[in-house]
Amino acid sequence: MTKSSVLITGASTGIGAVYAERFARRGHDLVLVARDQTRLDILADRLRQETGISVDVLPADLTLSDELATVEARLRDDTRIGILINNAGIAQSGGFIEQTPDSIERLIALNITALTRLASAVTPRFVQAGEGSIVNISSVVGLAPEFTMSVYGATKAFVLFLSQGMNLELSSSGIYVQAVLPAGTYTEIWERAGIDISTSARMMEVGELVDAALVGFDRRELVTIPPLHNAARWDALDAARQALLSDIKQAEAAERYKTV
Ligand code: NAP
Repeated sequence: MTKSSVLITGASTGIGAVYAERFARRGHDLVLVARDQTRLDILADRLRQETGISVDVLPADLTLSDELATVEARLRDDTRIGILINNAGIAQSGGFIEQTPDSIERLIALNITALTRLASAVTPRFVQAGEGSIVNISSVVGLAPEFTMSVYGATKAFVLFLSQGMNLELSSSGIYVQAVLPAGTYTEIWERAGIDISTSARMMEVGELVDAALVGFDRRELVTIPPLHNAARWDALDAARQALLSDIKQAEAAERYKTV
């Protein structure tokens, strides 16, 4: 049986490049997306030579709507693609008052708009086929405003919420959606964002992160948090959230908000 192709965004380096390598070794053909065509070509050549798989390079800046549309079209039309790794993302330095409208817009365009539109482009075809997998790369920062990366963290909270919602809507159609929440991982993201990590606590190696995420993928886990050693913590958080559900659907305001 031929294995489905995997389209990976942000495949030129970091987490996306390791996903490309791991799926190539599993025998999947690849479609690699990022802006830097030279780096994508070098990776594609190496993976073709080392594993014999076929690799297409699809250069695109996912913050530009016409280039995003090209990738959406590929996801809609290429029936070999059965797995989308929605990985491309950026961070930004500084606090909320230092960040500029342009940098905020770029961050949201890539981390939220592009990721959501790509998932939306591929989903109808997956539903029609009755199968397909979407991996959305979130972050533990999306769980913790305390990390004071408010806009970045909010984009990652969006990705987690979207993944949970998509899973509820789509799992009965055979679609698997995984949210992956890395913590600090050694990639170029820090330098690109202008964040100095030279004095930070030790982070995870990128290979270890992706291998753990793939264990979660193979188990069809919905939320995979590689750095979380005590899995019961996540289960407790999710159970507490679910316990709110019946409480928050009330027609009457709570007693404490009644003034008379
Ligand atoms: P990275 O090493 O900086 O890689 C980012 C990738 O995204 C690159 O391939 C880059 O390629 C691509 N990219 C950036 N801007 C793009 C654009 N406008 N259009 C298309 N592609 C673009 O970062 P990473 O650490 O691997 O990050 C991957 C994902 O993991 C992100 O979503 C990030 O938020 C998430 N994450 C990372 C960490 C961490 O500590 N590293 C922790 C939690 C979550 P080009 O420059 O060639 O376009």
